[in-house]
Amino acid sequence: MDKVFYNGVIITANEKDEVYSSGYVHVRAGKFIEVGSGYPDHIGTEEANFYNLNGRWLLPGLINTHGHTPMTLLRGHSDDLPLKRWLQEKMWPMEQKLTREAVIVSSKLAMVEMLKSGTTTFLDMYHLFLDDIANVVDEIGMRAVITRGIIGLCSREEQIAKLDEAMTIAKSWHGKGDGRITTMLSPHSPYLCPPDYIAEIASEARTLGVPVHTHMSETAQEVEESVNKYGKRPVELLQSTGFFDGASLVAHAVHVNDEELEILTEHQVAVSHNPMSNLKLGSGIASIQKMLSKGITVSIGTDSVASNNNLDLIQEMRTAILLQKGINQDPTAVKSAEGIKLITVNGAKALGLRNTIGSIEKGLDADFIIMQEQQAHLQPAMNALSHLVYSASGADVIDVYVKGKQLVKNRECLYLDEEKIITECNDHYRKMLK
Ligand SMILES: [Zn+2]
Repeated sequence: MDKVFYNGVIITANEKDEVYSSGYVHVRAGKFIEVGSGYPDHIGTEEANFYNLNGRWLLPGLINTHGHTPMTLLRGHSDDLPLKRWLQEKMWPMEQKLTREAVIVSSKLAMVEMLKSGTTTFLDMYHLFLDDIANVVDEIGMRAVITRGIIGLCSREEQIAKLDEAMTIAKSWHGKGDGRITTMLSPHSPYLCPPDYIAEIASEARTLGVPVHTHMSETAQEVEESVNKYGKRPVELLQSTGFFDGASLVAHAVHVNDEELEILTEHQVAVSHNPMSNLKLGSGIASIQKMLSKGITVSIGTDSVASNNNLDLIQEMRTAILLQKGINQDPTAVKSAEGIKLITVNGAKALGLRNTIGSIEKGLDADFIIMQEQQAHLQPAMNALSHLVYSASGADVIDVYVKGKQLVKNRECLYLDEEKIITECNDHYRKMLK
């Protein structure tokens, strides 16, 4: 049976940035077949189930374009260190203790947190038990881009084995879950992969027809080391490997100069901006205002909660916007309608999914969230878009749908046992500390 949601504020994130103060959406077979203002008199009650939104907000499901869900188990494990020491001394030793069960349950914990804060689609770059993670995504009805992060500083035999594994995952999961799961190939970063190997991975990605993803120019130290080692900054280096010759998405892009921005623009490279992680690790602030003005697709990622420390994309978007206003000393930098796009439309573009999701529009998959507006911090009720950008948080999300199927109802995940997951996560973390 069709579903009609009416009498709500519809924040479409479409080309015209339309917001209907009282509108409706009509969902059939997992897609929006109509979106409009007013009450849908022309749809009969025998044709669809009607849901009265009572003034609540309905907007596109949020899209997180960079993260590592199994690291959710390491939230709070280490604070106040720079990236290199944080990875080498704190994260990697703990990650070696991650069992298959621990990876699965920490991914589930991330998915509970994402769903309950309105994220319906996420990119997951990891190197362990990705088949298991993809299986969970498949079962619970979320949407994800699964990609094996490849560290290439190892023997040639290991390089071949890692790339084989990454390609097998990419091939076997691309398009699965009724199209909800897609894949990419991901050399971890130019500092942890030799250029020849990156070239090989990028070439295989194009043969498979999947995009490439990597961490790039996250810290000033990384850029300096790249220049010392290869005589090239990371963007130039990646360009020389052919990494940008097909669909590509880079996370961070904090330390990128004007010439490098030109290269990213020319090759239509999408950026996943991870402001909170970059701030927490003291890496710097990416110039996304400049990127947006050049037409670069800038989306938002949280990175893992070990460096964030949560997966609330609404807070992440607000941080991104406020930082740009502050560093540019310009209150008009990244306006509110653009802010919403960073975590919806632009996320869809960055993941190569714009024909499927990203806005509330006829013909797209019905991935959407409903937010409770009857709260003190969201009053006066008239200015929904402003409140969403500058005052709301993921805790205001009450219902979540992917492809028209409800995954969260009144803040309860319907396909994940939150209580059990929390207990198991704590048990695994305790064991890893021993
Ligand atoms: Zn990352």
